[in-house]
Amino acid sequence: MWTIPLGGLGEFGMNMMALRSGDDIIVVDAGLMFPEQELLGVDIVIPDISYLKQNKRMVRAIVLTHVHEDHIGAIPYILPDLEVPVYGTRFTLAILRKKLEEHGLLDDADLNEVSPGGTTRIGPFEIEYIHVTHSTIDCVALAIRTPVGVIIHTGDFKIDPTPVDGKPFDLHAFARYGQERVLALFSDSTNVERPGFTPSERAVVVRLEELFRAAPKKVVVSCFSSSIHRIQQVVDIALHAGRKVGFVGRSMVDNVEIAHELRKLRIPDGSVVRPQDLKSYEPTRLVVLASGSQAEPLSALSRIAVDNHRLLSIGENDTVILSARIIPGNEKAIFRMIDHLFRRRVLVYYEGGRSAPIHVSGHASQEEMKILLQLVKPKYFIPLHGEYRQLFRHAALAEQMAAVSGEIFLIESGQPIEFTDDGRAYRREPVTAGRVLVDSGSLEEIEEVVVRDRRHLAADGVVVPIIAIDKHTGLLEGSPEIVTRGFLPSEDGAEILNKAREIILRTVEQSSPEEKTDWSVIKEKIRADLKRFLNKQTAKRPLILPVILEV
Ligand SMILES: [Zn+2]
Ligand SMILES: [Zn+2]
Repeated sequence: MWTIPLGGLGEFGMNMMALRSGDDIIVVDAGLMFPEQELLGVDIVIPDISYLKQNKRMVRAIVLTHVHEDHIGAIPYILPDLEVPVYGTRFTLAILRKKLEEHGLLDDADLNEVSPGGTTRIGPFEIEYIHVTHSTIDCVALAIRTPVGVIIHTGDFKIDPTPVDGKPFDLHAFARYGQERVLALFSDSTNVERPGFTPSERAVVVRLEELFRAAPKKVVVSCFSSSIHRIQQVVDIALHAGRKVGFVGRSMVDNVEIAHELRKLRIPDGSVVRPQDLKSYEPTRLVVLASGSQAEPLSALSRIAVDNHRLLSIGENDTVILSARIIPGNEKAIFRMIDHLFRRRVLVYYEGGRSAPIHVSGHASQEEMKILLQLVKPKYFIPLHGEYRQLFRHAALAEQMAAVSGEIFLIESGQPIEFTDDGRAYRREPVTAGRVLVDSGSLEEIEEVVVRDRRHLAADGVVVPIIAIDKHTGLLEGSPEIVTRGFLPSEDGAEILNKAREIILRTVEQSSPEEKTDWSVIKEKIRADLKRFLNKQTAKRPLILPVILEV
């Protein structure tokens, strides 16, 4: 039996792991990653599934732990390649259904609903779904009975003793497996740097209540649209404080609708203000939930911050609460948005500071990780869901306890472990794993080379030499034109461009008659010569795009 992590170990996002026993493979999660800034114009990043494509006839199913994008976001991009059934809890599948519909894939999808406490048999694997608490609803860990022993995959979790929906973390199930013997535990490492316990989702109540009551005018709360617990609490507290609620932003409206339909969100009749009435509604009696907590361009909150939202305007003494983590990488955009709000004299509250929290994490801190290790007492332990330092520290934390009887494996995406019949585990040769870049506008994969071009463009600009060639004689018509953008604004620019023109002339003159009739060769020669020259003169590598005009 092999476990093959294909994403999420040593990187944040795109969680995916394959389990293989004989000729049967199941895949746990298929998430995406939001790109770093340097991947210009790439909208999303998904795991490289070459390994699964090579073994396509063995792949039996994708099993999902929960609804977050870093666990389900890649499905629309990989499902057409794999054509396998998908298993997930009710809310997870409801959101996935919407996604697949948008991609025109719903008709061909085979979606199978599972529930916490239930089991599914897929080939040689028997999977029990164990309810765990996290920042969204309907989350499960997986206890996978394989021919060589039980593997537990926690998914994302924290141990919330007072969950908003009243459904507790199923400590008993983990303890039961611990008593039976667990071969290997794969566990969430996200918050390993935090000591103590992560606060309950309920911890935000005090501060939100205080802010809602004190707010002189309307309140806008922004959180992740999948944070159903948070949305529930905002609704409850708003009603309690004598305010009604409204919803803006596509993902917020969609998720609230889906969760409400599934009865996962309790919104009393008559408590919702219709979108078209928000502008005219009495501000002292209104709380609006808006998507866009990460200041995503064109999101509801980004528009509201510059007072450019169709349904809602904002101004002096309105209150905006960011009830979400400021995700590293998004700080600039978020703080720019917050600045806009302050300029409008809005009262803005965001994470940080000494008061009671307006946001809590959905991932376990050190003490919860220890509890889980102690309950499960696995033979082997493998940290997952984190960057390398987090995996490392999670391994170190497990090392300090006597909970793991065998080895702790610190591995990254692409590094398989084989579990043999005699209950031992070995590292095996890496398989192909990595990132695939997707431009969600075109839904097409982007080659690394495209991104490289974009990086050149952003850093060093573009140079377009335009050469007119007489189609009868093959001779140059006049001096070449050079158009530049984002390159050479300096005073010696003109001189460099003059020299560049000479280089183009020389390159063309020194070419053989055959070369001159083959424009692609001429273009390539000009590109190479100019690149060398410009790099030497300016230490830059602009994108060079020669254009040849026939005259
Ligand atoms: Zn999650
Ligand atoms: Zn996650």
